[in-house]
Order: sequence, then C-alpha cells, then structure tokens
Amino acid sequence: IPTIALVGRPNVGKSTVFNRLIGERISIVADFPGVTRDRIYSTGEWLGKEFRLIDTGGIEMTNEPLMDQVRFQAEIAMDEADIIIFLVSAQEGLTDADEEIGHMLHRTKKPVILAVNKTDNPEQRQEIYDFYALGHGEPYPVSGAHGTGFGDLLDEVMVQAPSDSSDTEEDTSIKFSFIGRPNVGKSSLVNSILKEERVIVSNIEGTTREAVDTKFTSQSGREFTMIDTAGIRKRGKVYEHTEKYSVLRAMSAIERSDIVCMVIDAETGIREQDKRVAGYAYDAGKGIVIVVNKWDAVDKSDNKFEEFTKDIRAEFQYLSFAPILFVSAKTGQRLNKLPELLEMIYDNRHRRVQSSVLNDVVSDAVAMNPTPTDKGRRLKIYYMTQVAVNPPTFVVFVNDVELMHFSYERFLENQLRNAFYFEGTPLKLIVRERK
Ligand code: GDP
Repeated sequence: IPTIALVGRPNVGKSTVFNRLIGERISIVADFPGVTRDRIYSTGEWLGKEFRLIDTGGIEMTNEPLMDQVRFQAEIAMDEADIIIFLVSAQEGLTDADEEIGHMLHRTKKPVILAVNKTDNPEQRQEIYDFYALGHGEPYPVSGAHGTGFGDLLDEVMVQAPSDSSDTEEDTSIKFSFIGRPNVGKSSLVNSILKEERVIVSNIEGTTREAVDTKFTSQSGREFTMIDTAGIRKRGKVYEHTEKYSVLRAMSAIERSDIVCMVIDAETGIREQDKRVAGYAYDAGKGIVIVVNKWDAVDKSDNKFEEFTKDIRAEFQYLSFAPILFVSAKTGQRLNKLPELLEMIYDNRHRRVQSSVLNDVVSDAVAMNPTPTDKGRRLKIYYMTQVAVNPPTFVVFVNDVELMHFSYERFLENQLRNAFYFEGTPLKLIVRERK
C-alpha cells in the first residue's frame, strides 16, 4: 500500500491536515486490545484503497534550528514515502521557507502534490495561484479547520500512487524482519541466516524505497522474504543516529513484515527501547518471535536459560504467545530453527476457524466463566465469527458493547488460544453491538 508523507514548514497546519486525512479510521485501531501509543505511521482509507501516512511531526528533533528540522522531515519523506504532500498555507501566503522546501523536493523523483491549507473561504481560494511559482504543479486548496478539499486531494494522491506489483501478484512468501536496538546483532543475524540457508535467490532492490529485501527458499521449500530493517547500510546522515529515526526505520520494517523477530542482546539484557518496539509490533498485529542473540557469550553455569525466560515473560507480559529462541549469530547455534518457527507462525496466522466450532468454544467459555454485569444488566454474547486472517480477526456480536470488559476479552482470547493453535500471533477481537 502507498506510503504518504506530509512536508511543510511549521504552522502550516500539518497535524490538523494529518488528522483529516486519517479521519475516523483511527477507531479501528482502537478496537484492538492492546496498549495504545503514539503511532508514527497511521493507516487511512480512500474509496476502498488503503494508504499509510507518516507523521514526520512525531519525529521532530528538539534543540535544532527550525530549518534543519524541516530539512530533516523532508529527507525522511523523500526516503520513506511513495508520495509527498507538500503543505503550504493560504493565510500566510508564499514564504521563503516554502520556497526552500520546494527546492529540496525538486531533488526527489517521487510524486509531489502541492496542497494549500487554510483556504477556508472563496477569497483565499484566489490566493492559491501564487503557489504555482513553486514548480510543483497545480495547488490543491484544502481547509484543515473545515475539512474541505480532502476528497479531491486524496483522489489525486491515489491517481499518483505507484501501483505496487507485489500487491496484485499475491506474494505468498513469509515476510519477516529483525528488529532491535543498535548492536544487538541484527545484521549479523541477517548474514548468518543467509549462510545457513545457502540459497540466496535474489536481492530485490527497492524501487521506491532504498531498502534491500532478500528472498530465499528454506530447506523445506518455503519462500521467505527477509525485510531490510535497519537501513544499516546507509551511513553518514545525521539523523541516522537519532533514536527516533531508528525507531521510524524499525516501524517501516514492521509494517512490511508478517512476522517480527524481536532481537534481544543476551549480554546486556532487556532495555526500555526493546519494549517500545515490541509494543508497536504487537499493536500492528504482527506475528512475533523473541530472539535472544549472543547466547554463545553467556556464562551458562547457573540456570541462565530459565532466568532469562522468566525475565522476558515478566517484562513482556502481553507477548506470552510469542515463542523465545536462544541463538548465536556468531556460531549459528539454533538459527536453523528459525525458518520452521516462522512457517509455524505464518500458518497459525492464516488459520480459519469455522463459525460453528467457534461458537461451541464461546458457549463453553460462557458456561465456565459467566459474562460480566453492570447495574443489573448482563453481557450477552450472540455470535462470534472470524472475519480475517493474518492476524486472525474475530468479530463478536453482543447486546451492549459497554458491558464487555477488557478482562473478559482477554479471557475469550485465551479460550480461543486453548482451543485452536495460535502460537506466535496476536489475535484481534472486535466487539460489535446487535440489538
Ligand atoms: P546491529 O546493529 O543490531 O545490526 O548489530 P551487529 O550485527 O552490527 O552486531 C553488533 C556487534 O555484536 C558486533 O560486534 C557483532 O560482531 C557482535 N555480535 C553479533 N551477534 C553476535 C553473537 O551471536 N555473539 C557474539 N558474541 N557477538 C555477536
């Protein structure tokens, strides 16, 4: 799906426009039982086609001169997005900063669509013609405040969106990535896997992104795509070293993966940054394997293995479904287990459960643990049905959504996990009312 970035000087109204473009689609994300946190990527939809929007405002560097920040944003947009919306403002008119950004954006081969915000009334609509001078084509008038003009803008975005051949050609390879802090051994793992599997098919040069993904076939004959995470190969840019940028890179890889291998360094243990990235993968509904790397360097005299497992389970309670694999990129220890683990999780994510079987499980669950009540009213569950795979997604119809508690959702999820085999993948439960 196409990735869009908004670029513009401060005060043109980027966050208002951002919210308008995403609209109420955000509530779909909120249906997912998980910890909600800032999303640098949000998903929106226009006329049945999905798009992703990068919130470059969310990765601003403080303490930097304003124009450096804007430059930083533009660089990220040019690296990460398929389409750039260049935002200016009718209220202030054409400014030097707009012109500077306009120049920067001439360097990219990606489509740039010029949008003029704060065109709230017809007089202001006359102002927009000045912006032709930027050399980015026809200006699209919008009003973040009034919500006007976004239909035409999104139409144009969708026209310019590169048609992704992998979307139409049904790529069934298992897409996975290694995610983690710097120096946990991500690139070493990538290299070790390729050595282990010995069957490099091709490097797919990213056409729109600068990422380099690698396709390979495992010993068992399944196809894998190892998503290039790190942008590790690109060096020398200032922002490369900012934590927020490395988080953004990780998120971009997570979005493109079916399964995320969360790499933890056995020598240094679990850190805050590990949790943040894991939380994002979970919220995005991706399959997860916790990979403990550098196991060769750990002194295994005591019960290190049990201790580490206990720590991980305590720190990542919401990832209790994720298998843990102790490996060494250096010696190759247990790395051969990874492809089969990924296959297993991929299959679990694509499992479909018949409604009749599903509802037997729900009746048993309700019999075992009565539904919650509030002010004398009891939650009634009418029906559950699976509406999607990857991740398995279930809609449960009830008499009143207010009566559904988080803890009861958790209970239902556990019952589903006990009845069917969903190791390694989050499940999505959507609660809907039916009178
Ligand atoms: P990245 O930043 O996550 O890609 O990490 P690198 O792959 O660059 O590895 C960081 C450092 O850890 C390098 O010095 C590696 O040689 C070392 N390293 C990576 N994997 C292992 C491992 O399994 N065992 C040991 N002992 N060192 C490792």
